[in-house]
Amino acid sequence: MVDSMFEGVMERPKAVVLDQAMLQDPSGPVVREPSDANAVIRVEDVHRYYDLGETRVHALRGVSLAVERGGFVAIMGSSGSGKSTLMNMLGCLDRPSSGRYLLEGTDVSKLEKAELAVIRNRKIGFVFQGFNLLARTTALENTALPTLYTPIDKEERARRAAEALAMVGLANRADHYPSQMSGGQQQRVAIARALVNRPAILFADEPTGNLDSRTAVEIMDIFQTLNDGGLTVVMVTHEPDVAQFAKRVIVFRDGKIRKDECVSARPRASDVLKTLPTLDD
Ligand code: ADP
Ligand code: MG
Repeated sequence: MVDSMFEGVMERPKAVVLDQAMLQDPSGPVVREPSDANAVIRVEDVHRYYDLGETRVHALRGVSLAVERGGFVAIMGSSGSGKSTLMNMLGCLDRPSSGRYLLEGTDVSKLEKAELAVIRNRKIGFVFQGFNLLARTTALENTALPTLYTPIDKEERARRAAEALAMVGLANRADHYPSQMSGGQQQRVAIARALVNRPAILFADEPTGNLDSRTAVEIMDIFQTLNDGGLTVVMVTHEPDVAQFAKRVIVFRDGKIRKDECVSARPRASDVLKTLPTLDD
């Protein structure tokens, strides 16, 4: 397999022609652009370069997209296509090299790191493939971690953490340590931690990558329920089976959007779970 590091270094004029052809002939239902008032995320012609000494990787090559409040987007694409680069920017962990990113109407593309951190803490929840929980810390304490940077007192912190754990169905595991929980439970703690500051958007980069298929659907059940409650969700996934639980699927290739379609006949994860065997079976 070609190392993704080298992908995007060389110009590919043919790919540009293909791109335009695909845009003229969309093969699925067209995604309606949200109005400015309704867009939580608005990305305008964003490029991201990584400078590696002599070479320069062009990881995002003119990406524009808008996500409306209450949207549920799955981002797909092969390894090295720019998904994580985009997610890091959307999640305010990184800035674009050029172009604009408006988060709830505010241009955050030129903010300094410290300012980005404030926005991130206030508006964004992030879930990663590796759960990144602190080992010697209970589920409740892990969940409460992001509140340490907010001006709320200890009782309120614990209250919000308990509330977030309840949202992911783990109210009865508050005192458990990560080693005492399954992978799926640990991922649910990571989701609770991402929710504890009541973000406007939940980002998840391969949230089911380390999980068996039933547990993956359980995580999608939680995402769908949160999304039903109005939370905007943007996730990266390799698996088409996982992507179909979103309302919209965006496919990346070579740092560009190649496809952007609504999901028709979206399954409910709770229905799918009824058809899947449980671990005890
Ligand atoms: P994906 O998440 O779709 O696998 P990435 O966004 O991680 O893709 O990577 C897109 C391109 O940018 C790849 O060519 C990758 O090697 C390169 N890249 C990603 N992060 C860095 C970095 N920190 N430094 C240099 N190149 C990077
Ligand atoms: Mg990635």
